[in-house]
Amino acid sequence: MKIQLYNTLSRKLETFTPISGNEVKIYSCGPTVYNYAHIGNLRTFIFVDILRRIMDYSGYEVSHVMNITDVGHLSGDDDSGEDKMLKSSRESGKTVWDIAQYYTEAFFRDTDSLNIIRPHTACRATEHIQEMIDLIRKLEEKGHTYTAGGNVYFSIDTFPEYGKMAGLKLDDLQSGARIKIDSSKKNPKDFVLWFTNSKFENQVMIWDSPWGKGYPGWHIECSAMSMKYFGSHFDIHCGGTDLINIHHTNEIAQSEAATGNKWVNYWLHGEFLIDESGKMSKSKGDSLTLSYLVERGYDPLDYRYFCLGAHYRSQLQFSFNALDAAKNARLNLKERIRLIKEKCDKQPSLSEGSISDSGKNYLNVFNEHIGKDLNISRGLADLWQIVKDMLLSDQEKLFLLTKMDSVFGLSLLNTEKEDFGDITQEIELLINERVDARTEQNFSRADEIRDILQKMGIEIKDTPAGTTWRKKV
Ligand code: AMP
Ligand code: ZN
Repeated sequence: MKIQLYNTLSRKLETFTPISGNEVKIYSCGPTVYNYAHIGNLRTFIFVDILRRIMDYSGYEVSHVMNITDVGHLSGDDDSGEDKMLKSSRESGKTVWDIAQYYTEAFFRDTDSLNIIRPHTACRATEHIQEMIDLIRKLEEKGHTYTAGGNVYFSIDTFPEYGKMAGLKLDDLQSGARIKIDSSKKNPKDFVLWFTNSKFENQVMIWDSPWGKGYPGWHIECSAMSMKYFGSHFDIHCGGTDLINIHHTNEIAQSEAATGNKWVNYWLHGEFLIDESGKMSKSKGDSLTLSYLVERGYDPLDYRYFCLGAHYRSQLQFSFNALDAAKNARLNLKERIRLIKEKCDKQPSLSEGSISDSGKNYLNVFNEHIGKDLNISRGLADLWQIVKDMLLSDQEKLFLLTKMDSVFGLSLLNTEKEDFGDITQEIELLINERVDARTEQNFSRADEIRDILQKMGIEIKDTPAGTTWRKKV
């Protein structure tokens, strides 16, 4: 299956070719574990999950590595502001280590409930300090660093390609072109590799290093850890769009300066989830979390379905109305699939070889859509078309849906697990489906639903104002 990806490096759609045989190495920037992930962060992890699932579905052998940032991330990505972990520790009265442990577990609880497949390797920054020190030494040996005010900096003027991916203009990068936040920096865009002279009192996460006791800057962790697990050249690196200008730009500079080679072939960036104010930020402290959605009666998969409705490179605005629509659509879909499954109960399942031309055609179209820069919302529309197709056999539908759900990760076939909440919701879904069927003049389906409802002890009545129902006495 052909896969095309929009590569931020070239700002073009490129046909994906792995570096080595059938293997695909994906590194994604992980969470900073000082607070709960907000649903915006989770949108990015859903996008990475879809990428990985599409690669798996296409037959590639995927290795996925993701870091856990538990040290070094300041509130400003350019070394300014407060240390995120320390701030959280001060506010909660817990140690930074406890904070990291607690929010890492919370993160994986969220991602598990969203059916996000865990990375093969989830690596904590604090467990890879030696690798970071080794990389900084390498940069030092090659003349890319300087020490000032006690800290070790990367000098961007030693790397002429600096800022290429982000399209940063060289003029903006010259020393003195902008007000320097850190007076030790020779160029305002230089960044800290190792903090020895911490501006934070009570910094407890510190390690010995050739430059004295201290801790690493945020950017070096991703270079050091990806190189440890993947070597100096790998296929795909991803994260949210906010990482392009500073974090990923700095990762490229230090990695390629250290090795002298191209580091990553494809850079993929997911657009933001925004709220009505246009922003969603974990540090605001009042952000939307997945558990908040669950408290309000949503299933995490309602949120996953909501995200699958948009392309990963488009901004997506969150609202409860939109989430309600996603929830209804998902439950409606599952109910339809449950009925298909029920009808196939006693029949043998199909194999790929026995699929009709129409079924094959559906699969080809689906593959084309998802292969074109992960167009998952088009893929979802294909799935709905299959469910509604009156000519396709139920067995065939079941075969196609099972295959396609390995990409969506919506547990669509897991109808037993589904909790429809109260019975009213299930009835309303069936009634809605019956209204659709009548509109499409599919009267046999409408009658079928009436029979199902009758078996459930529900009587329905079609009135000019719509369909009403009541429990039979
Ligand atoms: P953090 O935990 O802040 O390090 O962020 C984890 C991931 O979430 C990164 O890939 C960010 O780019 C991404 N991210 C942050 N805010 C949003 C948002 N509002 N929508 C989508 N992704 C986001
Ligand atoms: Zn990173």
